[in-house]
Amino acid sequence: MTTRVWDYLPEYGQEKADLLDAVTTVFESGRLVLGESVRNFEAEFADHHGVAYCTGVDNGTNAITLALRALGIGPGDEVITVSNTAAPTVVAIVAAGAVPVFVDVREDDFLMDTGQVEAAVTARTRALLPVHLYGQCVDMAPLRRLADRHGLVVLEDCAQAHGARHHGRLAGSMGDAAAFSFYPTKVLGAYGDGGAVLTGDGGVDRALRQLRYYGMADDAYYVVRTPGHNSRLDEVQAEILRRKLRRLEGYIAGRRAVARRYAEGLGDLAGTEGLVLPSTAEGNEHVYYLYVVRHPRRNDILERLRAYDIALNVSYRWPVHTMSGFAHLGYTRGALPVTERLAEEIFSLPMYPSLPRSLQDKVIRALRDVLATL
Ligand SMILES: *Cc1c(COP(=O)(O)O)cnc(C)c1O
Repeated sequence: MTTRVWDYLPEYGQEKADLLDAVTTVFESGRLVLGESVRNFEAEFADHHGVAYCTGVDNGTNAITLALRALGIGPGDEVITVSNTAAPTVVAIVAAGAVPVFVDVREDDFLMDTGQVEAAVTARTRALLPVHLYGQCVDMAPLRRLADRHGLVVLEDCAQAHGARHHGRLAGSMGDAAAFSFYPTKVLGAYGDGGAVLTGDGGVDRALRQLRYYGMADDAYYVVRTPGHNSRLDEVQAEILRRKLRRLEGYIAGRRAVARRYAEGLGDLAGTEGLVLPSTAEGNEHVYYLYVVRHPRRNDILERLRAYDIALNVSYRWPVHTMSGFAHLGYTRGALPVTERLAEEIFSLPMYPSLPRSLQDKVIRALRDVLATL
Protein backbone atom coordinates (compact mmCIF):
# COMPACT_ATOMS: atom_id res chain seq x y z
CA MET A 1 0.00 0.00 0.00
CA THR A 2 1.42 3.36 -1.01
CA THR A 3 1.69 5.73 1.88
CA ARG A 4 0.02 9.07 1.42
CA VAL A 5 1.20 12.34 2.89
CA TRP A 6 -2.38 13.01 3.91
CA ASP A 7 -5.58 10.96 3.74
CA TYR A 8 -9.02 11.85 5.08
CA LEU A 9 -10.61 8.46 4.44
CA PRO A 10 -9.60 6.79 7.74
CA GLU A 11 -11.15 9.74 9.62
CA TYR A 12 -14.26 9.64 7.44
CA GLY A 13 -14.64 5.95 8.24
CA GLN A 14 -14.61 6.70 11.96
CA GLU A 15 -16.86 9.78 11.87
CA LYS A 16 -19.18 8.93 9.01
CA ALA A 17 -22.44 8.83 10.96
CA ASP A 18 -21.85 12.26 12.51
CA LEU A 19 -20.65 13.85 9.26
CA LEU A 20 -23.63 12.58 7.28
CA ASP A 21 -25.91 13.74 10.07
CA ALA A 22 -24.37 17.22 9.69
CA VAL A 23 -25.20 17.19 5.96
CA THR A 24 -28.76 16.01 6.63
CA THR A 25 -29.23 18.64 9.31
CA VAL A 26 -28.45 21.41 6.84
CA PHE A 27 -30.41 19.89 3.95
CA GLU A 28 -33.49 19.61 6.16
CA SER A 29 -33.08 23.06 7.76
CA GLY A 30 -34.70 24.93 4.89
CA ARG A 31 -31.80 27.37 4.69
CA LEU A 32 -28.74 26.60 2.56
CA VAL A 33 -26.75 29.84 2.73
CA LEU A 34 -25.73 31.82 5.86
CA GLY A 35 -28.14 29.97 8.12
CA GLU A 36 -28.03 28.68 11.64
CA SER A 37 -24.99 26.44 11.15
CA VAL A 38 -22.76 29.31 10.01
CA ARG A 39 -24.08 31.47 12.83
CA ASN A 40 -23.50 28.74 15.42
CA PHE A 41 -20.07 27.85 14.11
CA GLU A 42 -19.00 31.49 14.21
CA ALA A 43 -20.15 31.83 17.82
CA GLU A 44 -18.51 28.55 18.87
CA PHE A 45 -15.22 29.26 17.06
CA ALA A 46 -15.00 32.77 18.60
CA ASP A 47 -15.83 31.35 22.03
CA HIS A 48 -13.24 28.58 21.67
CA HIS A 49 -10.57 31.27 21.18
CA GLY A 50 -11.90 33.70 23.75
CA VAL A 51 -12.23 36.31 20.98
CA ALA A 52 -15.34 38.46 20.60
CA TYR A 53 -16.10 38.06 16.87
CA CYS A 54 -15.83 35.46 14.12
CA THR A 55 -16.90 35.79 10.50
CA GLY A 56 -17.00 32.61 8.41
CA VAL A 57 -15.69 32.94 4.86
CA ASP A 58 -15.17 30.70 1.86
CA ASN A 59 -11.46 29.88 2.25
CA GLY A 60 -8.26 30.88 4.00
CA THR A 61 -6.91 33.00 1.16
CA ASN A 62 -10.00 35.20 1.12
CA ALA A 63 -9.93 35.26 4.93
CA ILE A 64 -6.58 37.08 4.65
CA THR A 65 -7.68 39.39 1.82
CA LEU A 66 -10.94 40.36 3.53
CA ALA A 67 -9.23 40.78 6.91
CA LEU A 68 -6.68 43.14 5.37
CA ARG A 69 -9.42 45.14 3.65
CA ALA A 70 -11.52 45.24 6.84
CA LEU A 71 -8.47 46.49 8.73
CA GLY A 72 -8.29 49.34 6.24
CA ILE A 73 -5.33 48.09 4.24
CA GLY A 74 -5.33 48.54 0.49
CA PRO A 75 -3.47 49.79 -2.57
CA GLY A 76 0.09 50.90 -1.92
CA ASP A 77 0.15 49.78 1.72
CA GLU A 78 3.02 47.53 2.70
CA VAL A 79 2.48 44.32 4.66
CA ILE A 80 5.51 42.65 6.23
CA THR A 81 5.42 38.86 6.08
CA VAL A 82 7.60 35.90 5.11
CA SER A 83 8.38 34.26 1.79
CA ASN A 84 8.73 30.94 3.63
CA THR A 85 4.98 30.25 3.58
CA ALA A 86 2.22 28.79 1.45
CA ALA A 87 1.87 30.99 -1.64
CA PRO A 88 -1.76 31.93 -0.75
CA THR A 89 -0.52 34.11 2.13
CA VAL A 90 1.14 36.34 -0.44
CA VAL A 91 -1.53 35.96 -3.13
CA ALA A 92 -4.04 37.26 -0.57
CA ILE A 93 -1.96 40.37 0.20
CA VAL A 94 -1.66 41.17 -3.50
CA ALA A 95 -5.39 40.56 -3.98
CA ALA A 96 -6.08 43.23 -1.35
CA GLY A 97 -4.01 45.62 -3.49
CA ALA A 98 -1.25 45.78 -0.89
CA VAL A 99 2.49 45.19 -1.31
CA PRO A 100 4.08 42.19 0.42
CA VAL A 101 7.48 42.86 2.01
CA PHE A 102 9.48 39.83 3.08
CA VAL A 103 11.77 39.11 5.99
CA ASP A 104 13.74 35.89 6.39
CA VAL A 105 13.01 33.03 8.79
CA ARG A 106 15.00 31.41 11.58
CA GLU A 107 17.27 28.41 10.96
CA ASP A 108 15.93 26.26 13.78
CA ASP A 109 12.13 26.52 13.59
CA PHE A 110 11.63 28.10 10.13
CA LEU A 111 9.42 30.86 11.60
CA MET A 112 9.53 34.61 10.91
CA ASP A 113 12.75 36.14 12.24
CA THR A 114 11.12 38.92 14.21
CA GLY A 115 14.51 40.56 14.70
CA GLN A 116 14.48 41.55 11.01
CA VAL A 117 11.08 43.22 11.00
CA GLU A 118 11.96 46.68 12.27
CA ALA A 119 14.51 47.24 9.47
CA ALA A 120 11.75 46.41 6.94
CA VAL A 121 9.35 49.07 8.25
CA THR A 122 8.92 52.08 5.93
CA ALA A 123 6.57 55.06 5.87
CA ARG A 124 4.13 52.90 3.86
CA THR A 125 4.09 49.91 6.22
CA ARG A 126 0.62 49.30 7.62
CA ALA A 127 0.53 45.69 8.81
CA LEU A 128 2.57 42.77 10.13
CA LEU A 129 1.43 39.34 8.94
CA PRO A 130 3.12 36.54 10.88
CA VAL A 131 2.50 33.00 9.60
CA HIS A 132 2.25 30.33 12.31
CA LEU A 133 3.97 27.79 10.10
CA TYR A 134 3.66 23.98 10.24
CA GLY A 135 1.75 24.07 13.55
CA GLN A 136 3.58 26.46 15.86
CA CYS A 137 3.38 30.17 16.56
CA VAL A 138 5.63 33.05 15.67
CA ASP A 139 7.03 34.92 18.68
CA MET A 140 4.29 37.52 19.06
CA ALA A 141 5.56 39.85 21.81
CA PRO A 142 8.20 41.62 19.68
CA LEU A 143 5.69 42.07 16.86
CA ARG A 144 3.11 43.62 19.20
CA ARG A 145 5.72 46.06 20.53
CA LEU A 146 6.80 47.02 17.00
CA ALA A 147 3.20 47.39 15.86
CA ASP A 148 2.36 49.66 18.78
CA ARG A 149 5.48 51.77 18.26
CA HIS A 150 4.85 52.26 14.52
CA GLY A 151 1.03 52.29 14.53
CA LEU A 152 0.66 49.02 12.59
CA VAL A 153 -1.93 46.27 12.78
CA VAL A 154 -1.07 42.59 13.31
CA LEU A 155 -2.90 39.92 11.29
CA GLU A 156 -2.11 36.30 12.20
CA ASP A 157 -2.13 33.68 9.43
CA CYS A 158 -3.45 30.71 11.42
CA ALA A 159 -4.10 28.38 8.48
CA GLN A 160 -1.60 25.86 9.85
CA ALA A 161 -2.03 26.41 13.57
CA HIS A 162 -5.53 25.56 14.82
CA GLY A 163 -5.19 24.83 18.52
CA ALA A 164 -1.50 25.78 18.72
CA ARG A 165 -0.59 27.68 21.88
CA HIS A 166 2.04 30.35 22.48
CA HIS A 167 2.83 31.04 26.14
CA GLY A 168 -0.59 29.54 26.86
CA ARG A 169 -2.51 31.65 24.34
CA LEU A 170 -4.23 30.16 21.31
CA ALA A 171 -3.15 31.06 17.80
CA GLY A 172 -5.77 33.49 16.57
CA SER A 173 -6.22 35.26 19.89
CA MET A 174 -3.08 37.40 19.77
CA GLY A 175 -3.40 39.74 16.77
CA ASP A 176 -5.79 42.54 15.81
CA ALA A 177 -7.34 39.89 13.59
CA ALA A 178 -6.56 36.30 12.61
CA ALA A 179 -7.26 34.40 9.39
CA PHE A 180 -8.02 30.66 9.35
CA SER A 181 -8.34 28.13 6.55
CA PHE A 182 -10.40 24.96 6.88
CA TYR A 183 -9.01 23.39 3.70
CA PRO A 184 -9.39 19.63 4.23
CA THR A 185 -5.72 18.94 5.08
CA LYS A 186 -5.60 21.51 7.86
CA VAL A 187 -5.64 20.60 11.56
CA LEU A 188 -9.32 21.60 11.60
CA GLY A 189 -10.43 20.69 8.08
CA ALA A 190 -13.78 20.83 6.33
CA TYR A 191 -14.99 18.43 3.62
CA GLY A 192 -14.34 21.11 1.04
CA ASP A 193 -13.26 24.73 1.36
CA GLY A 194 -13.81 27.06 4.28
CA GLY A 195 -12.23 29.87 6.25
CA ALA A 196 -12.82 32.34 9.07
CA VAL A 197 -11.57 35.59 10.52
CA LEU A 198 -11.38 36.27 14.25
CA THR A 199 -11.18 39.77 15.68
CA GLY A 200 -11.88 41.53 18.94
CA ASP A 201 -12.91 44.69 17.09
CA GLY A 202 -16.63 45.04 16.36
CA GLY A 203 -16.02 47.57 13.57
CA VAL A 204 -13.61 45.23 11.79
CA ASP A 205 -16.08 42.37 12.13
CA ARG A 206 -18.90 44.49 10.70
CA ALA A 207 -16.70 45.39 7.73
CA LEU A 208 -15.89 41.71 7.23
CA ARG A 209 -19.56 40.71 7.14
CA GLN A 210 -20.21 43.32 4.47
CA LEU A 211 -17.12 42.40 2.45
CA ARG A 212 -18.07 38.70 2.32
CA TYR A 213 -21.57 39.58 1.10
CA TYR A 214 -20.83 41.62 -2.06
CA GLY A 215 -20.09 44.65 0.13
CA MET A 216 -23.74 45.19 0.91
CA ALA A 217 -24.40 47.57 3.76
CA ASP A 218 -25.91 46.03 6.87
CA ASP A 219 -28.08 49.11 7.45
CA ALA A 220 -29.54 49.36 3.94
CA TYR A 221 -30.80 46.20 2.28
CA TYR A 222 -29.21 45.46 -1.09
CA VAL A 223 -27.18 48.67 -1.19
CA VAL A 224 -23.47 48.46 -1.97
CA ARG A 225 -21.32 51.34 -0.79
CA THR A 226 -17.95 49.57 -0.91
CA PRO A 227 -17.83 46.77 -3.50
CA GLY A 228 -16.86 43.56 -1.75
CA HIS A 229 -16.62 39.87 -2.56
CA ASN A 230 -18.81 36.82 -2.51
CA SER A 231 -16.93 34.93 0.20
CA ARG A 232 -19.51 33.23 2.36
CA LEU A 233 -18.72 30.14 4.42
CA ASP A 234 -20.86 27.31 3.08
CA GLU A 235 -23.63 26.17 5.40
CA VAL A 236 -22.85 22.44 5.07
CA GLN A 237 -19.15 23.00 5.75
CA ALA A 238 -20.04 25.14 8.77
CA GLU A 239 -22.13 22.32 10.28
CA ILE A 240 -19.33 19.81 9.63
CA LEU A 241 -16.84 22.21 11.23
CA ARG A 242 -19.06 22.57 14.31
CA ARG A 243 -18.95 18.81 14.80
CA LYS A 244 -15.21 18.62 14.16
CA LEU A 245 -14.37 21.57 16.44
CA ARG A 246 -15.58 19.44 19.37
CA ARG A 247 -12.98 16.81 18.39
CA LEU A 248 -10.11 19.26 17.73
CA GLU A 249 -8.15 18.37 20.86
CA GLY A 250 -8.35 14.70 19.88
CA TYR A 251 -6.99 15.41 16.40
CA ILE A 252 -4.12 17.37 17.91
CA ALA A 253 -3.35 14.57 20.38
CA GLY A 254 -3.25 12.16 17.42
CA ARG A 255 -0.83 14.38 15.52
CA ARG A 256 1.41 14.69 18.57
CA ALA A 257 1.46 10.90 18.95
CA VAL A 258 2.57 10.56 15.31
CA ALA A 259 5.27 13.20 15.88
CA ARG A 260 6.47 11.35 19.00
CA ARG A 261 6.78 8.08 17.08
CA TYR A 262 8.82 9.80 14.36
CA ALA A 263 11.10 11.29 17.01
CA GLU A 264 11.51 7.85 18.62
CA GLY A 265 12.12 6.11 15.31
CA LEU A 266 14.50 8.68 13.83
CA GLY A 267 15.88 10.62 16.78
CA ASP A 268 19.19 8.74 16.87
CA LEU A 269 19.91 9.77 13.26
CA ALA A 270 19.41 13.46 13.97
CA GLY A 271 22.70 15.27 13.90
CA THR A 272 24.98 12.35 13.03
CA GLU A 273 23.38 11.57 9.68
CA GLY A 274 22.68 15.20 8.82
CA LEU A 275 18.98 14.77 9.48
CA VAL A 276 17.23 17.57 11.39
CA LEU A 277 13.87 16.85 13.03
CA PRO A 278 11.33 19.59 13.85
CA SER A 279 12.12 21.75 16.84
CA THR A 280 9.60 23.53 19.01
CA ALA A 281 10.32 27.14 19.92
CA GLU A 282 10.28 28.24 23.55
CA GLY A 283 6.76 28.86 24.85
CA ASN A 284 5.11 26.95 21.99
CA GLU A 285 2.79 23.93 22.01
CA HIS A 286 3.14 22.44 18.52
CA VAL A 287 0.13 20.90 16.72
CA TYR A 288 2.14 19.35 13.84
CA TYR A 289 0.12 20.41 10.82
CA LEU A 290 3.16 19.17 8.92
CA TYR A 291 6.13 17.13 10.07
CA VAL A 292 8.97 18.82 8.21
CA VAL A 293 12.49 17.43 8.38
CA ARG A 294 15.68 18.78 6.86
CA HIS A 295 18.72 17.21 5.22
CA PRO A 296 21.43 18.76 2.99
CA ARG A 297 20.98 15.90 0.47
CA ARG A 298 17.19 16.16 0.29
CA ASN A 299 16.95 15.54 -3.46
CA ASP A 300 19.06 12.35 -3.29
CA ILE A 301 16.93 11.09 -0.42
CA LEU A 302 13.64 11.74 -2.26
CA GLU A 303 15.04 10.08 -5.39
CA ARG A 304 16.02 6.93 -3.47
CA LEU A 305 12.77 6.81 -1.52
CA ARG A 306 10.88 6.37 -4.80
CA ALA A 307 11.79 2.68 -4.73
CA TYR A 308 9.98 2.33 -1.39
CA ASP A 309 6.59 3.49 -2.64
CA ILE A 310 6.39 6.30 -0.14
CA ALA A 311 4.75 9.65 -0.82
CA LEU A 312 6.58 12.69 0.50
CA ASN A 313 5.87 16.36 -0.01
CA VAL A 314 8.05 19.41 -0.01
CA SER A 315 6.33 22.37 1.63
CA TYR A 316 7.56 24.51 0.05
CA ARG A 317 9.87 23.74 -2.86
CA TRP A 318 9.92 27.23 -4.39
CA PRO A 319 10.22 30.29 -2.15
CA VAL A 320 7.42 32.70 -2.98
CA HIS A 321 9.77 35.63 -3.70
CA THR A 322 11.46 33.63 -6.48
CA MET A 323 8.19 32.79 -8.29
CA SER A 324 7.62 34.56 -11.62
CA GLY A 325 4.19 35.71 -10.45
CA PHE A 326 5.86 37.92 -7.87
CA ALA A 327 8.73 39.21 -10.02
CA HIS A 328 7.18 42.69 -9.87
CA LEU A 329 8.06 42.83 -6.17
CA GLY A 330 11.72 43.08 -7.20
CA TYR A 331 13.25 40.29 -5.13
CA THR A 332 16.06 38.21 -6.58
CA ARG A 333 17.70 34.98 -5.51
CA GLY A 334 19.97 35.58 -2.53
CA ALA A 335 17.62 38.10 -0.91
CA LEU A 336 16.41 35.65 1.74
CA PRO A 337 19.21 33.12 2.27
CA VAL A 338 17.65 30.96 5.00
CA THR A 339 14.33 30.68 3.14
CA GLU A 340 16.16 29.73 -0.06
CA ARG A 341 18.35 27.13 1.64
CA LEU A 342 15.36 25.56 3.40
CA ALA A 343 13.55 25.14 0.10
CA GLU A 344 16.46 22.94 -1.04
CA GLU A 345 16.72 20.88 2.13
CA ILE A 346 13.28 20.25 3.63
CA PHE A 347 10.70 17.53 3.08
CA SER A 348 7.55 16.44 4.91
CA LEU A 349 6.79 13.00 6.29
CA PRO A 350 3.19 11.74 6.21
CA MET A 351 1.18 13.40 8.99
CA TYR A 352 -2.47 13.12 9.96
CA PRO A 353 -4.10 12.00 13.21
CA SER A 354 -5.33 8.65 11.90
CA LEU A 355 -2.09 7.76 10.09
CA PRO A 356 -1.93 3.96 10.47
CA ARG A 357 0.99 2.84 12.60
CA SER A 358 2.07 0.28 10.01
CA LEU A 359 2.44 3.02 7.38
CA GLN A 360 4.38 5.19 9.75
CA ASP A 361 6.73 2.31 10.57
CA LYS A 362 7.21 1.78 6.84
CA VAL A 363 8.25 5.42 6.43
CA ILE A 364 10.68 5.22 9.35
CA ARG A 365 12.25 1.98 8.06
CA ALA A 366 12.61 3.33 4.53
CA LEU A 367 14.17 6.58 5.66
CA ARG A 368 16.62 4.70 7.91
CA ASP A 369 17.57 2.44 4.97
CA VAL A 370 18.14 5.34 2.63
CA LEU A 371 20.14 7.40 5.10
CA ALA A 372 22.36 4.38 5.88
CA THR A 373 23.31 3.97 2.22
CA LEU A 374 23.50 7.62 1.21
C1 LIG B 1 -3.66 26.73 3.39
C2 LIG B 1 -3.05 28.05 3.66
C3 LIG B 1 -3.64 29.25 3.23
C4 LIG B 1 -4.79 29.29 2.27
O1 LIG B 1 -5.92 28.63 2.68
P1 LIG B 1 -7.03 28.18 1.57
O2 LIG B 1 -8.17 27.79 2.41
O3 LIG B 1 -6.42 27.05 0.81
O4 LIG B 1 -7.31 29.36 0.72
C5 LIG B 1 -3.06 30.44 3.62
N1 LIG B 1 -1.96 30.47 4.38
C6 LIG B 1 -1.34 29.35 4.79
C7 LIG B 1 -0.12 29.45 5.64
C8 LIG B 1 -1.85 28.09 4.44
O5 LIG B 1 -1.23 26.99 4.84
